[in-house]
Amino acid sequence: MLTETARLQPSCADDTEAGVLSVDEARQHIQTEITPITAMEKIALRSALGRVLAEDVISPVNVPNHTNSAMDGYAVNIADMAKGISHYECIGTAYAGQPYKKPSQPGQCVRIMTGAPIPEGTDTIIMQEQAEVLPNNIIQFVGQHHAGQNVRLAGEDISVGSAVINSGHRILPADLGVVASLGIGELRVRRRPRVAFFSTGDELRSIGEVLGEGEIYDSNRYSLYGMLSRLGVELMDLGVIPDQPAAVRDAFEMASSMADVIITSGGVSVGEADYIKPVLEELGEMKFWKIAMKPGRPLTFGHLNNTLFFGLPGNPVAVMVTFYQFVQPALHFLASGEPHVPLTLNVRCSQDLRKRPGRTEFLRGILQQSDNAELHVTAAGKQGSGILSSMSQANCFIVLGEDHGDIEAGSLVPVQPFKCFV
Ligand code: AMP
Ligand code: MG
Repeated sequence: MLTETARLQPSCADDTEAGVLSVDEARQHIQTEITPITAMEKIALRSALGRVLAEDVISPVNVPNHTNSAMDGYAVNIADMAKGISHYECIGTAYAGQPYKKPSQPGQCVRIMTGAPIPEGTDTIIMQEQAEVLPNNIIQFVGQHHAGQNVRLAGEDISVGSAVINSGHRILPADLGVVASLGIGELRVRRRPRVAFFSTGDELRSIGEVLGEGEIYDSNRYSLYGMLSRLGVELMDLGVIPDQPAAVRDAFEMASSMADVIITSGGVSVGEADYIKPVLEELGEMKFWKIAMKPGRPLTFGHLNNTLFFGLPGNPVAVMVTFYQFVQPALHFLASGEPHVPLTLNVRCSQDLRKRPGRTEFLRGILQQSDNAELHVTAAGKQGSGILSSMSQANCFIVLGEDHGDIEAGSLVPVQPFKCFV
């Protein structure tokens, strides 16, 4: 990594110039501007999938609730075994959900199924494969046995009164199962972030409209919709806003009255029709503007009253890169108060890559597993910031940091998967 002083030395050979933030600095800077949501609601367990817990889940019970058998077999008292007793009278059967209630006496054993409570007078389970059934309900055991084997103790998974899942945790499928195992049917979760988003540009048409000369379909709202939907936030799609200061102003005012976060795409460069930055400065507060990265360099972040604002670039790939790098971690932090850094793996790159030092480049990559289970990555087609098809073919970003130059085939490169990990 270059030092702060080195990084701020202007040079025409790279993208480094004063006032430009690194990707990490920008991410940290954004996090300090966010106050996590604390408002909460109580919802049914199944609806809590993907939601963020607003309080610790305290167990009202032991799990398992009773000491029980981990095997199908026979319950014995280890003291009998220590005395050298080899033949036992089997006095009954304990089933899961149907305990055997009579106490077992010395020289006796109880047939037992997995999950059945351990009968009184026994403390050890011998698996059925180590038992020989003789005439007249007599059982002979083989092999070595120790006290308490194959017994699951009450509370060994979760003990009554303990905090099982902590506040701020995002509920995943295993959590639904854990909470259900406690007999809890409702959870207190934090309110979901409300996110308003719109596209800006006079050239943009919506699906169903006929394209005039020089016009294009608005794709950014669709990729944004997709990425936001996977995060489980409340969405407000405000459509396409033309490149007119008054229209941008109206959209900002409406969005900030309803949403915790506004996301726009386009209009953040220094072109003549780029009104996002001046209108944000007029109505709110603009925090920064250039990031040493490619694609995604012109990114605007700020506030409109209490609403966070992300002005993403217009180019379709830049929208997705800046969303994954800045907006997604910000939304996680807003929703949970927990910092979120994208998962990064070091993976062998199968080809040479060209890279200019001085900025972080996010190449679209295809991460694959070879027959011997090793991961390797290649670049996914053309890398221009308008080539959205490369994003659709890719399943990861190859992240080449500021100090990286060209990459030789065979070197390890940092990779952030985005297809299956959110
Ligand atoms: P801008 O940042 O507004 O200068 O836009 C940069 C480029 O991205 C231009 O080629 C725009 O036409 C294109 N662009 C902007 N917004 C969208 C959008 N919503 N969908 C597709 N392309 C867009
Ligand atoms: Mg534009």
